[in-house]
Amino acid sequence: MVVSKRIVLHFPKRITDRPIVCRLIKNYDLEFNILKASITPDKEGLMVLELSGEQQDYDKGIRYLTTNGVRIQSLSQDVIRNEERCTHCGACVAICPTGAFELAPVTRQVNFDNEKCLACGLCIKACPPRAMEVHF
Ligand code: SF4
Ligand code: SF4
Repeated sequence: MVVSKRIVLHFPKRITDRPIVCRLIKNYDLEFNILKASITPDKEGLMVLELSGEQQDYDKGIRYLTTNGVRIQSLSQDVIRNEERCTHCGACVAICPTGAFELAPVTRQVNFDNEKCLACGLCIKACPPRAMEVHF
Protein backbone atom coordinates (compact mmCIF):
# COMPACT_ATOMS: atom_id res chain seq x y z
CA MET A 1 0.00 0.00 0.00
CA VAL A 2 1.37 3.40 -0.97
CA VAL A 3 1.21 6.10 1.68
CA SER A 4 1.87 9.82 1.48
CA LYS A 5 2.25 11.85 4.64
CA ARG A 6 3.22 15.36 5.55
CA ILE A 7 5.71 15.58 8.37
CA VAL A 8 8.08 18.05 9.99
CA LEU A 9 11.68 16.97 10.58
CA HIS A 10 13.72 18.65 13.30
CA PHE A 11 17.47 18.18 12.88
CA PRO A 12 19.73 18.72 15.89
CA LYS A 13 22.71 20.92 15.00
CA ARG A 14 25.24 18.07 15.11
CA ILE A 15 23.68 16.43 12.03
CA THR A 16 22.58 19.34 9.83
CA ASP A 17 25.56 18.81 7.48
CA ARG A 18 24.80 15.15 6.79
CA PRO A 19 22.88 14.04 3.65
CA ILE A 20 20.27 12.24 5.72
CA VAL A 21 17.20 13.06 3.65
CA CYS A 22 18.86 12.15 0.31
CA ARG A 23 19.34 8.62 1.57
CA LEU A 24 15.57 8.23 1.89
CA ILE A 25 15.42 7.94 -1.91
CA LYS A 26 18.49 5.82 -2.37
CA ASN A 27 18.11 3.37 0.50
CA TYR A 28 14.35 3.27 1.10
CA ASP A 29 12.89 3.95 -2.33
CA LEU A 30 10.84 6.86 -1.00
CA GLU A 31 9.88 10.05 -2.76
CA PHE A 32 9.72 13.38 -1.06
CA ASN A 33 8.59 16.86 -1.82
CA ILE A 34 10.15 19.57 0.33
CA LEU A 35 7.55 22.17 1.27
CA LYS A 36 9.81 24.25 3.47
CA ALA A 37 13.39 23.98 4.68
CA SER A 38 15.45 25.99 7.07
CA ILE A 39 18.81 24.32 7.56
CA THR A 40 21.91 26.26 8.53
CA PRO A 41 25.19 24.54 9.42
CA ASP A 42 25.84 24.55 13.19
CA LYS A 43 22.24 25.45 13.92
CA GLU A 44 19.11 23.40 14.45
CA GLY A 45 17.37 22.63 11.17
CA LEU A 46 13.76 22.17 10.22
CA MET A 47 12.19 20.69 7.12
CA VAL A 48 8.55 20.23 6.18
CA LEU A 49 8.08 17.52 3.61
CA GLU A 50 5.63 15.21 1.98
CA LEU A 51 7.01 11.69 2.10
CA SER A 52 5.56 8.92 -0.08
CA GLY A 53 6.23 5.29 -0.78
CA GLU A 54 5.21 1.77 0.12
CA GLN A 55 4.09 1.53 3.75
CA GLN A 56 6.93 -0.83 4.71
CA ASP A 57 9.54 1.42 3.07
CA TYR A 58 7.97 4.43 4.72
CA ASP A 59 8.18 2.80 8.14
CA LYS A 60 11.83 1.86 7.57
CA GLY A 61 12.62 5.37 6.39
CA ILE A 62 11.02 6.90 9.50
CA ARG A 63 13.00 4.49 11.68
CA TYR A 64 16.18 5.46 9.85
CA LEU A 65 15.49 9.15 10.48
CA THR A 66 14.75 8.75 14.16
CA THR A 67 17.77 6.52 14.81
CA ASN A 68 19.89 9.26 13.24
CA GLY A 69 18.61 11.76 15.77
CA VAL A 70 15.92 13.44 13.66
CA ARG A 71 12.80 14.33 15.61
CA ILE A 72 9.62 13.82 13.61
CA GLN A 73 6.42 15.71 14.14
CA SER A 74 3.27 14.38 12.61
CA LEU A 75 0.90 16.80 11.00
CA SER A 76 -2.17 15.02 12.32
CA GLN A 77 -2.80 17.97 14.56
CA ASP A 78 -4.71 21.14 14.11
CA VAL A 79 -3.38 24.67 14.34
CA ILE A 80 -5.93 27.30 15.13
CA ARG A 81 -5.79 31.02 15.72
CA ASN A 82 -6.91 32.60 18.92
CA GLU A 83 -8.68 35.57 17.37
CA GLU A 84 -8.66 37.54 20.61
CA ARG A 85 -4.86 37.46 20.70
CA CYS A 86 -4.08 38.19 17.05
CA THR A 87 -2.88 41.76 16.54
CA HIS A 88 -2.70 41.38 12.73
CA CYS A 89 0.98 42.25 12.81
CA GLY A 90 1.67 40.12 9.70
CA ALA A 91 4.73 38.28 11.08
CA CYS A 92 3.23 34.95 10.07
CA VAL A 93 2.43 35.79 6.44
CA ALA A 94 5.85 35.12 4.85
CA ILE A 95 6.64 32.21 7.14
CA CYS A 96 3.74 29.96 6.23
CA PRO A 97 4.77 27.49 3.49
CA THR A 98 1.23 27.05 2.21
CA GLY A 99 0.06 30.66 2.14
CA ALA A 100 -2.57 30.13 4.82
CA PHE A 101 -2.28 33.78 5.90
CA GLU A 102 -3.31 36.60 3.65
CA LEU A 103 -3.01 40.29 4.25
CA ALA A 104 -6.18 42.03 3.14
CA PRO A 105 -5.04 45.12 1.20
CA VAL A 106 -7.78 47.49 2.32
CA THR A 107 -8.40 46.55 5.94
CA ARG A 108 -4.74 45.46 6.62
CA GLN A 109 -6.20 42.51 8.50
CA VAL A 110 -4.40 39.15 8.32
CA ASN A 111 -6.87 36.45 7.34
CA PHE A 112 -6.17 32.87 8.28
CA ASP A 113 -7.45 30.05 6.07
CA ASN A 114 -7.43 26.88 8.18
CA GLU A 115 -8.14 24.77 5.07
CA LYS A 116 -4.69 25.61 3.69
CA CYS A 117 -2.89 24.89 6.96
CA LEU A 118 -0.86 21.69 7.10
CA ALA A 119 -0.06 22.15 10.80
CA CYS A 120 3.70 22.46 10.37
CA GLY A 121 3.86 24.69 13.44
CA LEU A 122 6.19 27.29 11.90
CA CYS A 123 3.89 30.19 12.72
CA ILE A 124 3.58 29.29 16.38
CA LYS A 125 7.03 30.52 17.37
CA ALA A 126 6.88 33.37 14.88
CA CYS A 127 3.71 34.92 16.28
CA PRO A 128 4.65 37.62 18.82
CA PRO A 129 1.44 37.45 20.93
CA ARG A 130 1.32 33.63 20.63
CA ALA A 131 -2.05 33.70 18.89
CA MET A 132 -1.43 30.46 16.97
CA GLU A 133 -2.19 27.38 19.02
CA VAL A 134 -1.69 23.72 18.32
CA HIS A 135 -4.48 21.32 19.24
CA PHE A 136 -3.90 17.57 19.22
S1 SF4 B 1 1.90 36.67 13.65
FE1 SF4 B 1 0.27 36.21 15.11
S2 SF4 B 1 -0.50 38.20 15.73
FE2 SF4 B 1 0.68 38.51 13.88
S3 SF4 B 1 -0.88 38.37 12.25
FE3 SF4 B 1 0.00 36.34 12.48
S4 SF4 B 1 -1.40 35.30 13.89
FE4 SF4 B 1 -1.81 37.48 14.08
S1 SF4 C 1 1.00 25.79 11.02
FE1 SF4 C 1 1.13 27.95 10.54
S2 SF4 C 1 2.88 28.14 9.17
FE2 SF4 C 1 2.31 25.97 9.20
S3 SF4 C 1 0.89 25.71 7.50
FE3 SF4 C 1 -0.36 26.14 9.29
S4 SF4 C 1 -0.66 28.33 9.26
FE4 SF4 C 1 1.04 27.90 7.89
